Amino acid sequence: MFADLIIRSDTIVSCEEHLPFKAVDGYVAVLKDRIQSFAAGEAPAAICGPDTHLIDARGQTVVPGLIDSHTHLIHGGSRENELALKLKGASYLEILKMGGGILSTVAATRNASRDELKAKARQSLDQMLLHGTTTVEAKSGYGLDLENEVKCLELARELNLEHPVDIVSTYMGAHAIPAEYKSNPDEYMQLMLDTVMPYVAQAGLAEFMDVFCEEGVFSPAQAQILMEAGQKLGFKLKIHADEIIPLQSAELATVMHAISADHLLAASDEGLQAMQDAGVTAVLLPGTSFYLMLGKYAQARKMIDKGMRVALASDYNPGTCPCENLQTVMTFACFGMHLSPVEILQAMTINAAHAVDRASEIGSIAAGKRADLLILNAPNWDYVVYHFGINHVDKVIKNGVIVVDNGQLI
Ligand SMILES: [Zn+2]
Repeated sequence: MFADLIIRSDTIVSCEEHLPFKAVDGYVAVLKDRIQSFAAGEAPAAICGPDTHLIDARGQTVVPGLIDSHTHLIHGGSRENELALKLKGASYLEILKMGGGILSTVAATRNASRDELKAKARQSLDQMLLHGTTTVEAKSGYGLDLENEVKCLELARELNLEHPVDIVSTYMGAHAIPAEYKSNPDEYMQLMLDTVMPYVAQAGLAEFMDVFCEEGVFSPAQAQILMEAGQKLGFKLKIHADEIIPLQSAELATVMHAISADHLLAASDEGLQAMQDAGVTAVLLPGTSFYLMLGKYAQARKMIDKGMRVALASDYNPGTCPCENLQTVMTFACFGMHLSPVEILQAMTINAAHAVDRASEIGSIAAGKRADLLILNAPNWDYVVYHFGINHVDKVIKNGVIVVDNGQLI
């Protein structure tokens, strides 16, 4: 069978499951939306037909499309007004107590029309794609009532069909207690359990469910009730775990067989060990640590050295990490967490695919997987992390189609 597209490069990093990754001098052949073959050397004549598109990427680096496994993609408004407060030392939980932070985004999201929200999210998806992200996990959680949670999840579904970036949808009604339930959070729990979660499950609007388990948000006991109910409804589970205050939510992720536990700055050694034993992927968000000026990061070095599976994501959201660009996150992962460039690549490709339960489909260059590929203007992978602050993407191939060329959307 002739290939539709063949990329020839002296530096293809395929990102199989485990390090070390070796760069291959070879070719990747694409047929329709899939990788037909990947091997060292020249592509055999048998797959080079008269209509096969050949890309000579020698001198450039080819890697799988990046996977952003934790974002809050769809939301209204922006929160640059909080920057001055933060610089004066107000913490995330203090700003939340003042009715700012996430609750101001909830108001902006509820007030925004579908068209406004969609246009804003589409712009973010464009930025992600331009910087090499080909699959993104997107959480709801700024609607916090039936109408607005469903509105955001429906928009994610539409954008998934309309935009080249694939969206993995997550219901996160348990992102905050909405202002109208401030004095009666149990009633909000009941609304989610009785009404919103069954509706979202029945309408097939989300594959995952996520809970913000944190002091002043949802307690471990509440998180467990929600996760158990979510599991019964067929959701796969994620949890915002041990971000600020240690609440043993890494342990809870393990008990609940979550696919991932995310943040983990305050996770205990026992919690991390339990995650490792149970194969729960740690999703770390160094851009958020940087932006919150925490002066510390999750212990990624320790987690990787002990053999945990670590993914890195942007946490793109309007309050604590307004950044769609995973290449920026690489900078913090390297210089904040002291991860090597190749560990970072693994954490944004195959490990991130595990974090969204797509490891058999995406995250590495292998025959049969989706043809999601980046061609980077870099002589080797290390160079991409070393030379920070610019966009290295030359071409993005998504599902076998060139969607970014010469650094521009097509
Ligand atoms: Zn988050």
